[in-house]
Amino acid sequence: MKRSHYALWLPTLITSIMIIFLFWVMHAFLHHNLNEILESHKRSQELTKKIEQMVSSTLNATFLGDEKGFLKTVELSNQIHDDILLIKEDNVYNTASLFNSYEHLYKKLISVVSYSKENRLEDAKLALQEVQAYSISLESQMRELNSYFDQQEKETEQLFFVLMIFSGTLLLIIALFNGFYLIPRQVIRPLEEFAEALKGSEEKYRIVADWTYDWEYWIDVNKNIVFISPSVQRVTGYTQNEFMQTPSLLIDIIHPDDTHFWNQHVSEAHLPNRPEEDAQEVEFRIVRKDGGIVFLDHICRPVYNHDGIYMGVRVANRDITQKVAILAELTEKNRLLDTLATTDGLSALYNRRYFDEAFTREVEYAKRTGNTLALVLCDIDYFKLYNDAYGHQKGDKVIQQVADVLKETFSRTIDVVARYGGEEFVILLQATPPAEAYNLVELARKNIVKLGIEHRESKVAPLITMSFGVVSCIPDLLSNGDNLLTQSDKALYQSKEKGRNCTTLLEC
Ligand code: GH3
Ligand code: MG
Ligand code: MG
Repeated sequence: MKRSHYALWLPTLITSIMIIFLFWVMHAFLHHNLNEILESHKRSQELTKKIEQMVSSTLNATFLGDEKGFLKTVELSNQIHDDILLIKEDNVYNTASLFNSYEHLYKKLISVVSYSKENRLEDAKLALQEVQAYSISLESQMRELNSYFDQQEKETEQLFFVLMIFSGTLLLIIALFNGFYLIPRQVIRPLEEFAEALKGSEEKYRIVADWTYDWEYWIDVNKNIVFISPSVQRVTGYTQNEFMQTPSLLIDIIHPDDTHFWNQHVSEAHLPNRPEEDAQEVEFRIVRKDGGIVFLDHICRPVYNHDGIYMGVRVANRDITQKVAILAELTEKNRLLDTLATTDGLSALYNRRYFDEAFTREVEYAKRTGNTLALVLCDIDYFKLYNDAYGHQKGDKVIQQVADVLKETFSRTIDVVARYGGEEFVILLQATPPAEAYNLVELARKNIVKLGIEHRESKVAPLITMSFGVVSCIPDLLSNGDNLLTQSDKALYQSKEKGRNCTTLLEC
């Protein structure tokens, strides 16, 4: 911009100075010439007068015998002689013939003077006539010279006028050229283009900065807000102006229960001299102006200018309220799915699938830790007959009641009570020695009897009863879980064989 400014004005200035200088030189030259001409003109006018005086003084001296008149004639003729020489030196006019005429006149005047002194009046008269003739010729030449000087004056004045018009026109052309071509081309158009580009870049900046959907801001080193996007109103309910006027609002709206997240983040992330690419993220809640709660994902980065000077922190706050809600719903659904996948629908105990996984895991764990592992298999006695007598629905109810008793009896969190299939259940007891396992199982069996559910078809008792098979295993003998399962099945079979409603303990 500066360069084009100089490029515009420097040639114009130089050209204008040159024109004015030229005008001044020519004006000075013409003025000098005119002065010379005026000087010569004045001299020629004085010379004319002197010649007239000399002629009249000669006449007086000749005819009146005036001695002083002769002396004056001689003095005047000398002056005239010098003046003619000066006019000759002026070199503005060809004075040769003028000088010639004067020479003749002068000689004749001298003759008139000497004739009159010798008293030769006739000769003096004749010479005087010649003097008069020369004097007339000289006067006419002088008139010619004067008119020549008049002409010179007029021409010089005209030339001066033409020069003035020419210089003025040239300056006017330069002014018009500047005004209508050079300035619009070199200044106005680039300025317009610059303004257009500026407008474009402003528009681009506005679209980039103001149209961000997330709430974005930039705080400087003094914690003043340099920029805050209009989307802040959508997220917080507060306007841009409210934040600009009260920058502490950024902190004030953080949910009281989440301020520790924020303080931790600030102590790590909002420090100068962190690398530019080091983005820090934290999630917290804010309280909107209308009291609503918004979950925010806050990401910030340090800002440095071109010279590497720290300029504060640039932040993007994303409203993740909906995402958090969806995530919570999804987590709940997953939890439910997990429960469904591992729970038996009828008894609300763990299902066979869960048991299999837990069993494999616990067998491995017991082998590692050296803990005893006990496995219990149990089965409702004559349950087919119960279904036949009371119906399947009542049978289901019995399964649920029996399951509740088992759950209550084996209530340690590490115990796994599962429905193994049909009216058969399995219980996995960790770190439980055989006697303890047996006692617990017996307690469960008695609790079932205590339920007092009528079973008139049972061949053991008129109540619902269960048979139990318990196996307790020393980990060293645990090759895999299979022998444990086989043994417990065997124990259960023995209980059935023994007459049901009893517990058989086997060790492996
Ligand atoms: P035992 O004393 O020898 O075990 O005789 P049991 O009749 O109980 O044995 P069996 O295996 O012959 O019969 C099991 C019965 O359990 C068959 C089936 O009708 C019943 N049963 C299995 N699953 C369910 C269930 O989910 N609900 C109901 N109501 N009955 C079931
Ligand atoms: Mg059975
Ligand atoms: Mg049965």
